Amino acid sequence: MLNGKTALVTGSTSGIGLGIARSLAEQGANIVFNGFGDAQQIEKLYTDIGAEFGVQTAYHNADMSKPDEIAALMQYASDKFGGVDILVNNAGIQHVAALEDFPTERWDAIIAINLSSAFHTTRLALPGMKQKNWGRIINLASVHGLVGSSQKSAYVAAKHGLVGLTKVTALETAQTGVTCNAICPGFVLTPLVQKQVDDRAAREGIDNDAARKALLLEKQPSGEFVTPDELGALAVFFCSPAANQVRGVAWNMDGGWAAQ
Ligand code: NAD
Repeated sequence: MLNGKTALVTGSTSGIGLGIARSLAEQGANIVFNGFGDAQQIEKLYTDIGAEFGVQTAYHNADMSKPDEIAALMQYASDKFGGVDILVNNAGIQHVAALEDFPTERWDAIIAINLSSAFHTTRLALPGMKQKNWGRIINLASVHGLVGSSQKSAYVAAKHGLVGLTKVTALETAQTGVTCNAICPGFVLTPLVQKQVDDRAAREGIDNDAARKALLLEKQPSGEFVTPDELGALAVFFCSPAANQVRGVAWNMDGGWAAQ
């Protein structure tokens, strides 16, 4: 379905971004990977996915908190593949602390990576998408783009901001073949969430399994994690012709979290 298209997935060396990159590659899209990690492992990861699905893959190590590196990433995608058809703004970090103790440097980093990076990639991708009159922008927000949780001020603020940016992008592209939507997952068991599991296990003196269950049952009625594959399938749907008129939604896949 996506043969000949190029997808840039930010933060795709791990977790949800990696799952979405795989799902898009499975549909025939070439993929530009981005994110941190061991250089050799990253090279193996994008080479293997390219071989598995018979698509072209590439990687750029831009730090998504830095606008000049984001511009270099977009230029790289343009030089390599002639632009970005599918932009998945996924890179994100978390920090958990009460507002009055929240390190200001962590606040700035979360706003830069989880919110401002999507503004920069979007503004740089839009001219090419509009020229081709086809494009898909998918913002990885969170259920925390719809509801709050204590101790997560920067993350909740950034994700609500990202949902707002999604709506404005959708409105400004409404009469074009470019769509913009947000995906709002509940808990997905990635390194980002495992850290919260570890902190809880240490704080409450319980094992890993019990900490996972406690974290889930507090918020996610299904008691089960959402998976990167399930999120990848939703991203593929947003790229399909059936979703031509899905514009500006914040679609939660959250085991019932936001229904409460
Ligand atoms: P993860 O920690 O597994 O992956 C994060 C990715 O972002 C990694 O590839 C990492 O290298 C990259 N990254 C981090 N900082 C970066 C930077 N400055 N520049 C470039 N890349 C950077 O986390 P994840 O759980 O897969 O999260 C992916 C996205 O999904 C995030 O935006 C997160 O907020 C969102 N999300 C996650 C969950 C969850 O439960 N895991 C739930 C809702 C939303």
